[in-house]
Amino acid sequence: MKTFFADIILPLAIPKRYTYRVPQEMNEVIRVGHRVIVQFAASRLYTGIVGAVHEKPPQNYEAKYILELPDAHISVNDKQMELWKWMADYYMCSEGEVMNAALPSGLKLSSETVIALHPDFDGDISNLTDIEVKIVEALENNTTMKLSDIIVVTERKTIDKIIGDLVKKKVLVREEELKEKFKPKLEDFVFLAEKFDEEKLEQIFDSLKRAQKQAELVIALLNLSGRYQGEENPVKKSALLKAVHSSNAAFVALVKKNIFRIETFETGRLKDIGNAKSPELNLSEEQQTAIESIHKHYETKDVVLLHGVTGSGKTEIYMRLIEETLKAGKQALYLLPEIALTTQITSRLQKKFGNAVSVYHSKLNDNERVEVWNNIIKSGEPKVLLGARSALLLPFSNLGLVIVDEEHDSSFKQYDPSPRYNARDAAIILSRIHNAKTLLGSATPSIESYCNAEISKYGLVKLACRYGGVLMPEIFISDIKEAKKRKLMKSNFSPMLLENMELALTNKEQVILFQNRRGYSPVLECNTCAWTQHCINCDVTLTYHKYQNHLRCHYCGYTEKVPVTCPACGDTALQAKGFGTEKIEEEIGIFFPDAKIARMDLDTTRGKYAHQQLIENFEDGNIDILVGTQMLTKGLDFDNVGLVGILNADGMLNFPDFRAHERSYQLMAQVSGRAGRKQKRGKVIIQTHDPEKFIVQQVITNNYEAMYANEITERKSFAYPPFFRLVEITLKHKNVDVLNTACGFISFEGKNAFGKNLLGPEFPMVARIKGLYLKTFLLKIEREIAPSGIKEKLREIITQLKLKKEFKSVIVSVDVDPM
Ligand code: ADP
Ligand code: ZN
Ligand code: ZN
Repeated sequence: MKTFFADIILPLAIPKRYTYRVPQEMNEVIRVGHRVIVQFAASRLYTGIVGAVHEKPPQNYEAKYILELPDAHISVNDKQMELWKWMADYYMCSEGEVMNAALPSGLKLSSETVIALHPDFDGDISNLTDIEVKIVEALENNTTMKLSDIIVVTERKTIDKIIGDLVKKKVLVREEELKEKFKPKLEDFVFLAEKFDEEKLEQIFDSLKRAQKQAELVIALLNLSGRYQGEENPVKKSALLKAVHSSNAAFVALVKKNIFRIETFETGRLKDIGNAKSPELNLSEEQQTAIESIHKHYETKDVVLLHGVTGSGKTEIYMRLIEETLKAGKQALYLLPEIALTTQITSRLQKKFGNAVSVYHSKLNDNERVEVWNNIIKSGEPKVLLGARSALLLPFSNLGLVIVDEEHDSSFKQYDPSPRYNARDAAIILSRIHNAKTLLGSATPSIESYCNAEISKYGLVKLACRYGGVLMPEIFISDIKEAKKRKLMKSNFSPMLLENMELALTNKEQVILFQNRRGYSPVLECNTCAWTQHCINCDVTLTYHKYQNHLRCHYCGYTEKVPVTCPACGDTALQAKGFGTEKIEEEIGIFFPDAKIARMDLDTTRGKYAHQQLIENFEDGNIDILVGTQMLTKGLDFDNVGLVGILNADGMLNFPDFRAHERSYQLMAQVSGRAGRKQKRGKVIIQTHDPEKFIVQQVITNNYEAMYANEITERKSFAYPPFFRLVEITLKHKNVDVLNTACGFISFEGKNAFGKNLLGPEFPMVARIKGLYLKTFLLKIEREIAPSGIKEKLREIITQLKLKKEFKSVIVSVDVDPM
């Protein structure tokens, strides 16, 4: 009998696969892509993936046996492995790190206990102690954590009791509990109380002659339920009320009169019962032409960039292309930068494709993720996957189309942990592996993608007008320097902004206010001695969060209570300087006491359904003014936004980053795009100290091309992407001297190898994070040069560094194509 060996990918940052011996009884069944349980190092057990099976024993060590083969089916297919390999090479990490990012934790069982946030935890941390908040925040960044990691984060040895308390409070769950099914979402659906015939309906309408709102509701229900098509579909109560802009009172009256009947159903996460399929929309002529030209490009190219202004109907085009893909029997992947966006698009897709659609992102709990993963690997269903960046790592077998919506968005880039990949770029590779087509969509394409279109590497298709002839919003500049000089500013609001808000609210239109900074205010400062509080772990001042009454570090999550008096001079003159979303929300309430105000930022959207609830509340008209960070900018489609206010256009431009201009244009254009999308033209007011700034002018005139032309010249003269590729190398250590010597080593070796293309080392803007000092190098690689040789050389240098005893504890991270 033959002896087989298997190369196993382990979920670790080790450079190579590790070889194990296949026990005889597995000989017949083991296949590439199977999960296996193996022992690695001392006594740790891991789930690994079989990368290859062969007959060659490893040369330098004795192979241990594979311990277990838990499934009959494979968990990872060949195409995924090809992608993992590409990602590991290109992003300079290990296959194991890619595996770690790809597999839901439920498929990576290990011997250690894992905990996660309770799926029903709503993000309310007001009743938690500081240490509990720390644990919650750590879990928000990591989804699940081992107990051992939590001990590190909290710097406490005994946390069993704290964890126990949090489990009791339903804030956390342990992994075993995660395996249970969770309470599905419940929703009210409306039916006619009986199968009224036409005659009876006549009578009902007669009886409602004096109750017009109620009559409207009955008519709307008849329409939505499909009665005139001979159907009787359940209709969501929320949808019904929205359709006629009705209050609850009219609805309750109809229930009392026994005309309406309510039933509460579970609406599963993967299926959405009771949504009558939406009628087929007719594409506008422009949309039709766009689709034809996308097809034409696909004859010769694999990637097309759809550059369509906000509200031009790009989503409709995606849906048509998905439909065609399904007809051809293939899978489609639809990537969005933010989970917040999936809410709106999911319901649009489900109305069209029903159960063929599924969502996948980090707010699903682990069970849900495992369920989606296993369904796809076993049956190839569901065929349409909508998700944030990690959806790209699902086990597709037969992709026909990959859509990357809002392709310019920096949320597609994963920063930490490794693999530091850009989902847009990896999606293009994924698509190529499947011989599929890619569609990149944006109203404000990235300079890189637009350049690729200009040089005909990608096809370029444009939609220049909004759907239905709605005009692009009218943009006004409010000069706050001038207003400040003349003492006209009320807090952070110019008279122009306040007047227009008043007008919009009077017209029953909604208002969006954009401020690119969360928290109450960036600093709490002593008026007498200028004291401010710095983080004990990082080189930043703490952000003041008024509602939670603490100062918090946005880098490491460290918090402190707000002091009553100045810790330095003892004075009581502590003042919150600057504006975060929380402060804007509070102050705008003073000017508009009757308005319903809400806030959308990282702090208010922590719970699983928080995004969805906020968006639904806004859609349903339960919010008049929505204050938020860039979370608001991304592709949301609202009907009734009359005014968008950008509170401080200057703040965005002051980042020392070669993308600062591109970013500010994108932010301003995108947030403006939320105004007036249906029927009516919207208004935008941009507050700035410098109205002549050309980027502001380009936003006003909606002149993407001018912005691009400017930027591309700059990028060329300063050797930045797309003309050069960038690799950022960061070294970290708690001792600044060790860090400096290590940097000296990289500097010496690196300058030898790369010459003037290696820049640095430099301290970054924030030079110490979580107790570690940081220094970075930037390596520039000419576009024309294949980067693999250079990366290989860089790897060697880093390995040499790590081999030296004195640098063992230096952390080196490499970020290819940083954003
Ligand atoms: P984009 O994604 O380009 O911002 P959307 O696809 O969201 O634009 O379209 C903007 C609005 O116009 C949406 O409310 C959408 O329902 C509507 N719309 C787009 N195309 C059509 C069509 N062919 N028929 C009817 N409504 C459409
Ligand atoms: Zn002081
Ligand atoms: Zn910190």
